[in-house]
Amino acid sequence: MAETLDPKNWLELTELGQRIVAEMADHLAGIRDRPVWQPVPAEVRDELKSEALPVEGQGLERAYEDFRRLVLPYPNGNIHPRFWAWVQGAGDPAGMLAEMLAAGLNPMLAGFNQSPALVEARVVEWLSELMGFPRGSSGMLVSSGTMANLLGLAVARNARAGFDVREEGLQGQVPLVVYCSKETHGWARKAVEVLGIGNRRLRRVAVDDSFRMRMDELRAKVLEDRAAGLRPVCVIGTAGTVNTGAVDPLEELAEFCDSEKLWFHVDGAFGALARWSEKLKPLVRGMERADSLAFDLHKWGSLPFECACLLTRHAEAHRAAFALSPAYMTATDRGVLAGGVPFADLGIDLTRGFRALKAWVCLKTHGVRKYAAVIDDNVQQVQHLQRLIDASPDLQLMAPVALNVICFRYAPARIAAERLDDVNEELLLRLQESGRAVISSTRIGERFVLRAAHVNHRSRDEDFDELVSAVLAIGEELR
Ligand SMILES: *Cc1c(COP(=O)(O)O)cnc(C)c1O
Repeated sequence: MAETLDPKNWLELTELGQRIVAEMADHLAGIRDRPVWQPVPAEVRDELKSEALPVEGQGLERAYEDFRRLVLPYPNGNIHPRFWAWVQGAGDPAGMLAEMLAAGLNPMLAGFNQSPALVEARVVEWLSELMGFPRGSSGMLVSSGTMANLLGLAVARNARAGFDVREEGLQGQVPLVVYCSKETHGWARKAVEVLGIGNRRLRRVAVDDSFRMRMDELRAKVLEDRAAGLRPVCVIGTAGTVNTGAVDPLEELAEFCDSEKLWFHVDGAFGALARWSEKLKPLVRGMERADSLAFDLHKWGSLPFECACLLTRHAEAHRAAFALSPAYMTATDRGVLAGGVPFADLGIDLTRGFRALKAWVCLKTHGVRKYAAVIDDNVQQVQHLQRLIDASPDLQLMAPVALNVICFRYAPARIAAERLDDVNEELLLRLQESGRAVISSTRIGERFVLRAAHVNHRSRDEDFDELVSAVLAIGEELR
């Protein structure tokens, strides 16, 4: 008999699969009663680091037992209701099952004449409609916000360079310049470096007191660069900055880019989803005028990692940036390759997985209205936290709260100002180690601050009460 990876006994696979689903569901249902985070114990760490290459198979059941013992209890905590660190989505049980279906069917999503490709195309159209983009906009799902932003910037670069970037590259050409604010996420630096524009040609425009890009500074920098013979191509606005959740003046940026013939790209990694809520939509007005928009579905959309989306209203420019026509993949009129490989022609990846299925299944499962309600709740919960901070003489708000991110610190009058950075850093680590809640930190100006970024559909108001109690108790301990 020929070898295969399929099980000898499909019934056993089914039974084990049922047990796996049941136990994972139990784990998720009981997640609230576990510590948010616990360190990987030394013996577990040692075992994971020294496991021998499995030359002989041990079977799925034993592999699963190893997962239960070595992996399941020790993730970084983002599925827990009291995790608000960095910006990490909490996942979605419906998405978990959709991932299993996608892996089971395992279709190849470069394109092809198949339902999975129609699903991705439809999901992109739904997202385009939700984001207020015109019919006929182009887009695709990718692994991450970083990747969606990178691809968006690549389209922008090629469309506005004034020469054929794909043929000529950037060498020996007039230098291109890209603009963003000082608060822009680190993806932008990686992107200009990878795209050959160079970090020196990424202008970081100053921000106002609310951490929004200053239009006067942007105008001045563009003028200056043009006068110096450089070629401005793109302005990056952010809807929901990583540090404070600030939203750049998107309408003004759209106007400015229009009049200056610059490409307007918006990084809406998490903040773009505010548009799904009627109540919050005005906060990101102007975003729908972007030439391209990148956003994550694995943050505020709670889809299992990885899933993000790039949209652009310039379908031709999108294809022109990436399309190839290799002989081995020329579209046919009939058969499996009818329609070609549209998704491979819109980005870098050729072989692509069916990440669209979890977006399709979860949108159908919950409906947009449910997502909007979760997003509204999250913003209200952050306002609840803000009230707790305002009410405590020992806590201090460190930046305006624009959306779902809040920066604060423990700052009782009795602690000298110059000690506050150290005190807060120690407090943060002890809080994480306590397993009661996990938040993270950033710097506002020069100051170390505690930061909660809330995209967690499992949280309730009392979870923030618990956070504040824990912070104050640990602060007392640090006296
Ligand atoms: C998270 C984030 C990114 C990067 O997205 P990834 O999905 O983590 O790659 C970009 N911009 C902002 C504002 C973010 O919060």
